[in-house]
Amino acid sequence: MKEIKPESRDQKFKYLHPADQIVMIMERIYRYEMTTTSGGNLSVRDEDGGIWITPAGVDKGSLTRKDIVYIRKDGEHEGEHRPSSEYPFHLAIYEARPDIDAVLHAHPPALVSFSAAGKTPDLHMLPNTRHICEAVDFVPYGLPGSTDLGSKIASSFGAGFNTVLLENHGVVTASQNLFEAFKQFETLDYSARIQVKAQVLGGYKCISAEQMTIYDQKCNDLPEFISEAPVSKEKAIRREMVHMMRRSYDQGLITSTDGTFAVRLDKDSFLISPYGYDRKYLCEADIVLVKNGHRQAGKYPSRSSRLVLELFQAHDEVNAFILAHAPNVMAFNVSGKELNSRIIPEAYILLRDITILPIESLTQDHLRIVNQLSASQPLAMIQNNGILVTGENLLQAFDRLEVAEFTAKAILGAHQLGCVKVMNDEVIEELVTAFKLP
Ligand SMILES: [Zn+2]
Repeated sequence: MKEIKPESRDQKFKYLHPADQIVMIMERIYRYEMTTTSGGNLSVRDEDGGIWITPAGVDKGSLTRKDIVYIRKDGEHEGEHRPSSEYPFHLAIYEARPDIDAVLHAHPPALVSFSAAGKTPDLHMLPNTRHICEAVDFVPYGLPGSTDLGSKIASSFGAGFNTVLLENHGVVTASQNLFEAFKQFETLDYSARIQVKAQVLGGYKCISAEQMTIYDQKCNDLPEFISEAPVSKEKAIRREMVHMMRRSYDQGLITSTDGTFAVRLDKDSFLISPYGYDRKYLCEADIVLVKNGHRQAGKYPSRSSRLVLELFQAHDEVNAFILAHAPNVMAFNVSGKELNSRIIPEAYILLRDITILPIESLTQDHLRIVNQLSASQPLAMIQNNGILVTGENLLQAFDRLEVAEFTAKAILGAHQLGCVKVMNDEVIEELVTAFKLP
């Protein structure tokens, strides 16, 4: 069995002008609180060797395509503004790496924490971080805008790194295109936030090399079938899934590269999110139909599709499935500490008790997950990976995911206040009876 990927996942972006790409990604970085008005700069190398780059001294929260500066190959620039004062290191990276055509730099708080602590985030905490970021270098301090900083950063990229933390400064990621550079940036920032939060619970556990090898066997190579024209029920589910995934992205519950959603269509078929597509820009046509264990021809379902298949076959009452990596939930997940829902009635009623299962169960022991989940245990944690949420419908599963994230955030807050008091068995019994919980 093997993993199959779409050949060119970013086809829909390749026709976008570099200035529009820069505006799009800068808006995203600002909107999701990964830069301030004044911080951060992005660039894209043009086919003619010139560089499109963000301007100096312009509000990053309201950039337009006309604000983007073009630095010609001869060094002269065109546009209404001066180029970013940090452009020397962008140029130095392009010089050092002919294979790189996009550079992203910003000062997101969690990565600045690492930059100030003199450390890089641990890539062995979550498999997705290692897959996307591969390796992270740490570059000593240099004056912003100086050729000294430029040559330090360029030598790191020249050595093959694509993601670099700058001492007492921020982070730089680079790739063949801006969307891939953004994925590296967001994935590393996400991982950094989880690692910082996990410290409140006493630290985190890593994945062993053996577990990583087993995890990599997750596969989506279902045989193909030719689908017929979709009926209205299928179209409605596709629309709801796209809406809920975008909403989950906006709520910070999933990232561009992580988060699986599936909804049952009928007894033998379900719809599932695609593998490798940026969750922010999903559309109805990207969702994959799986019928009788076959995937829609030419489409690439999530690598959890076999698990979903077995889950839906075993549980008639389950019609929706989410595998997500909400950061506060993940602090409990990577630390191996129980996320105890018994702190307020709402949390216990929706979440019930949440068991932690080993990461191997995602590839080697689906039955363990399938048997663990039930009407009285609709959620389960997969250690160092994510939280599985089921529901009678997608809205219920989404609600449970949101409640789990709020609960995790509240417990982390209580930890910081010095005490977490949970409801006792008698109170829980009373809730089970009063709300007729299964
Ligand atoms: Zn900077």
